[in-house]
Amino acid sequence: MDPHTQLSTDGLMAELAALAQISEAEPPVVTRVVFGEADLRARTYVKELCTAAGLAVTEDAVGNTFARWQGSEPGLAPIGTGSHIDAIPNAGSYDGVVGVLGGLEAIRVLQKLGFKPRRSIELVTFTAEEPTRFGIGCLGSRMMASVLSPAQALALRDKEGRGLEELRTHAGFTGSLESVALPRGRFHQFVELHIEQGPQLEAEGIDLGLVTHIAAPASLRINIEGEGGHAGAKLMPGRKDALAAAAELILALESAAKSTGAIDTVATVGVCEVFPGAVNSIPSRVGLETDIRDIDGARRDGVLSALRAACVEVAARRGVKITTDLVNADPPTTCDPAILAALEEAAVKAGRSCKRMVARAYHDSSFVSCIAPVAMLFIPCRGGVSHRPDEYASPQWIASGVRVLATALAKLAS
Ligand SMILES: [Zn+2]
Repeated sequence: MDPHTQLSTDGLMAELAALAQISEAEPPVVTRVVFGEADLRARTYVKELCTAAGLAVTEDAVGNTFARWQGSEPGLAPIGTGSHIDAIPNAGSYDGVVGVLGGLEAIRVLQKLGFKPRRSIELVTFTAEEPTRFGIGCLGSRMMASVLSPAQALALRDKEGRGLEELRTHAGFTGSLESVALPRGRFHQFVELHIEQGPQLEAEGIDLGLVTHIAAPASLRINIEGEGGHAGAKLMPGRKDALAAAAELILALESAAKSTGAIDTVATVGVCEVFPGAVNSIPSRVGLETDIRDIDGARRDGVLSALRAACVEVAARRGVKITTDLVNADPPTTCDPAILAALEEAAVKAGRSCKRMVARAYHDSSFVSCIAPVAMLFIPCRGGVSHRPDEYASPQWIASGVRVLATALAKLAS
């Protein structure tokens, strides 16, 4: 059974192009903010394609969409695949949608081959993977995995001050938010096809990436309160310079990240706000925003702890007040060896080259991993470019991904 014989690359490319036309911006620029008019039209388009393929479509209370191909043993937990169709402002045509329309094409190919799945195969379109509207990424999968509670979700506001309740109701999604959370075991396994959004595969001429780990960030906001004063009149003894304290913390974080000895540990202070910010004034207040990432949660949290300890030590020694606020700490993911093996076997069967790699940006799979074993399959994208209108994946790359996904889904669902 070779999916290649039934794969309609032209048809899939035409569907990707049609979906890219559904945009708040002038095509080829793609902008689809969750619950906006384009997002809703795009959802309708995808649902119609799913229905036409004979899939049973249901939606949850935040608009996560499930399209199920019933297996011969419908009581078994399904194999999930899918991604997202929302797009940040000024984005391109492939991020997320390759996993949704490509996942659908994989199902259609298996149908045409006469394959009968034992486990159901379910195509999932997650709501709001992008943080554009609510400032938080992976809203739908986060709620599905109970990483974000209904109460936390209800407190979210967009720039115009509109809440999730108002916007989801307006989009036609009602019902209790409690029902969005799914239990562990709801999916037997989940696999997400996605463009790499980085340059490795294309540069190395490799067809496919098998994602072994998905890194995840923790973000700590730090506020330092010292004592201001005249830069000339106030002498060095007894100064409580908030920026000098901040400088120590920035270096402490860098050293904590380096000291893990792991190449996957990264830490950054990307924001440093200095008050009053005048050349002849001692900084009295500083705000830092830090981002610490790793593929190993315990190791990342070790760096976080070292940073917190530095805050306590520097505050005591310099006589400044330091408060911290954990903005988020998302779970890094280790992908499932059985799914990776199925993907690798499928790639070999299709004569496609592949390599194991780390996903540096998070994805819906990051959160699905809290309730099911997951893996991701990356295809190259030109120049590693993503989140831009010139984002591009060739029909051959996409076809390879779909072909391998289809073979792997067939194996997992058997
Ligand atoms: Zn994406």
